[in-house]
Amino acid sequence: MNTEASPVPKPAALPAPCAAPAAALAAGAAVAAVAASRPHVLVVDDDAGGRRLTRATLTKAGFAVSEAGDGRAALDAMRAGMPDLVLLDVSMPVMDGFTACAELRHLPGGERVPVVMMTGLDDTASIERAFEAGATDFITKPINWAVLPHRVRYMMRASAAIDELQQNQRRLSNAQRIGEMGDWEWDLRDNRISSSEQAWRIFGHAGGQRATGPEDFFADVHAEDAPRLNNAFANAAAQGEGFAVDHRMLLADGRVRHVHQQVEVAERGAEGQALRLAGVVHDITRRKDAEEQIRRLAYYDPLTGLPNRLLFVEQLERALAQAARHGRRLAIMFVDLDNFKRVNDTLGHRAGDELLCKASSRLAAALRSHDSVARNGSEPAEAADAAVQHIARLGGDEFIVMLTDVQMPENVAGVAQRLVRTLAEPIVVQGTEVFVGGSVGVASYPEDGTDIDTLLMNADTAMYRAKAAGRGGFQLYDRSMNARALDRLHMETRLRRALERNEFVLHYQPRVDVVSGRIVGAEALIRWQDPERGLLPPAEFIPLVEDAGLVIPIGEWAIQTVCRQSAAWVAAGLNPVPIAVNLASTHLRERGLPARVAQALAEQGVPASCLEIEVTESILLADPELSVSIAQELAAMGVTLSIDDFGTGYSSMSYLKKLPIAALKIDRSFVRDLETDPDDAAIVSAIVALAHSLKLKVVAEGVETPAQLAFLQSVRCDEYQGFLTSRAVSVPEFERLLLRRAQIESLFSSHGALDPIPVM
Ligand code: C2E
Ligand code: CA
Ligand code: CA
Repeated sequence: MNTEASPVPKPAALPAPCAAPAAALAAGAAVAAVAASRPHVLVVDDDAGGRRLTRATLTKAGFAVSEAGDGRAALDAMRAGMPDLVLLDVSMPVMDGFTACAELRHLPGGERVPVVMMTGLDDTASIERAFEAGATDFITKPINWAVLPHRVRYMMRASAAIDELQQNQRRLSNAQRIGEMGDWEWDLRDNRISSSEQAWRIFGHAGGQRATGPEDFFADVHAEDAPRLNNAFANAAAQGEGFAVDHRMLLADGRVRHVHQQVEVAERGAEGQALRLAGVVHDITRRKDAEEQIRRLAYYDPLTGLPNRLLFVEQLERALAQAARHGRRLAIMFVDLDNFKRVNDTLGHRAGDELLCKASSRLAAALRSHDSVARNGSEPAEAADAAVQHIARLGGDEFIVMLTDVQMPENVAGVAQRLVRTLAEPIVVQGTEVFVGGSVGVASYPEDGTDIDTLLMNADTAMYRAKAAGRGGFQLYDRSMNARALDRLHMETRLRRALERNEFVLHYQPRVDVVSGRIVGAEALIRWQDPERGLLPPAEFIPLVEDAGLVIPIGEWAIQTVCRQSAAWVAAGLNPVPIAVNLASTHLRERGLPARVAQALAEQGVPASCLEIEVTESILLADPELSVSIAQELAAMGVTLSIDDFGTGYSSMSYLKKLPIAALKIDRSFVRDLETDPDDAAIVSAIVALAHSLKLKVVAEGVETPAQLAFLQSVRCDEYQGFLTSRAVSVPEFERLLLRRAQIESLFSSHGALDPIPVM
């Protein structure tokens, strides 16, 4: 890194303005030892005498000096090691000073070295050429030896300062680029803005000038934000106060850029008005994007894209504040899918996800159509209500809807009904039609609560009530539900405890032959003998059994109880009838079921013909094949199967045919209005005909009047159950019925067929 002629190590840094003490140098201290800290001057002159003199002068002043005899030698020396300053003679052989100067500027590091050219006195042409060639300064020959060291030292300091400035500018520019920020200055006197390269680019300009008038400079500010920004500038100019502002830019290519600007007053007039503004602009697009993404993650359900609970609660908070201010009503609806769990468990999570998405868009669509009705006002009924509607997913299969600005509370029920109805329609999930259904609970502000928690809790309570009332319906909150809500809180543990403590009992309702009036069977119906609340009907707890995970244990308990009861009746000489047990349809997908049934029968030593099983059509909802194979196993054992509540559900006859069914039970709802509703009469006779064509027995449920019975006789329905004969009764009462049956039968045994006499 040194010239060959006179090796001088390159100094690590510039020395202090005053060089090393002359005494040290005079004493001839080892050059190498101090050279490291000494600034290095390359003297280029073809006049060896001049060189030596220069060297002596500069060395004495504390510089390290190397020499070169012409331009070429100088370039070679610089390639080997860059000096801190070059003293360059103009006219030299081989390569003159101008050429050497121009060329050394192209060497790596050469562009920054101060080059001082030595020209002849008054040789202005040379001076000009020297600057053109890139010289930093010049001194005239003959050289003033006393001044030379000072000149050199000054040049070095000046060039170091320039170096540093350039370096700082580079750093600043890099920092601005990396930090996506830039700065600008606006001189209000000549109304010109000059800016850093980065600010220039952030404001949407291409490379080049970087100074212009404010109209051009701020041309790409988003039209919607421009007035705000203009105001801020006007204020800053008049008041002499800085400001900070976030605004958007609309770039020529259509992209939107978000920026943050911090503006200060850099110079003020006598009255405090601004003369010069200085601004820093920061491109915050990426931050905004990230914020938006975080917002989405935090506020929206990724599966359905609906707002989540967090956002919903915020919306509700705002809506409540508004409602309170303007004395308006609003309504909250809890929507819970009835059969989601079943679909999810049997068809898998993907199906479950698909179902949730489809159900949520259904709900949204139902609300939209309501909304459009509301807005064009063509339908006065539920029209007027709910200017704004929000729907959110709370997680799982729970959705929540908010109607704001409700004018007529009656109309809320209309919306709830619409939601229930839309969920009652079949939904195709992975190519399979499923019936999911939904229950809705409604709470209204201000009647049912004035704060978020109370409203949500009460809507939830109403929803559970709707579920308990048979699912697929809606329920408006009323205060009496609170007690029930509290009950429900402990329901799971209480149900489990009830099973352990044997608090469930079975009541028996006789099944009667339509023609003979004989008791030909019975249905076991569960009740809960709650020590605190007395005898509870199944509607109060059966809907919660599934959530408590007790479907299977309770079903098995019922099977065992019926088997034990039959054995007891046999032992008492009562000649029992077959007893039907109600099983949840999920139970019929339990592979162990046939084995457990066989075990229960064997343990009690009763034949399979003692036991029947009733399931609803929802058995066909998911994985029918599995249910079919389990039902076939049961049938092979001799346990018969009936379809309960027939006509209310999702019958797919093709599947029903595959099931080894013995009977269809016509749902009570068709029987109830038999006398008044010709449709029901037609349905019942059609079901009977259909069942008979499939060689199935038909049992009518809920027969309360002789007229209903007469109709059933006329269409040749086989059997019935109903209050006309008997309610479901306790074991002792049912034993009395069995006893009476035995007495009547023995009484009439000689007469063949019996008249249909009510047993009670
Ligand atoms: P279900 O299987 O349709 O039972 C028939 C229901 O109709 C019984 O109500 C019965 O008391 C009632 N009923 C019978 N005759 C008449 C009548 O003439 N008029 C009227 N209005 N009603 C009549 P219950 O006992 O309250 O049972 C309700 C439902 O609870 C049952 O409907 C069944 O789905 C379920 N359930 C009952 N016991 C069990 C059980 O052990 N396990 C399961 N999983 N569910 C059960
Ligand atoms: Ca039943
Ligand atoms: Ca039924």
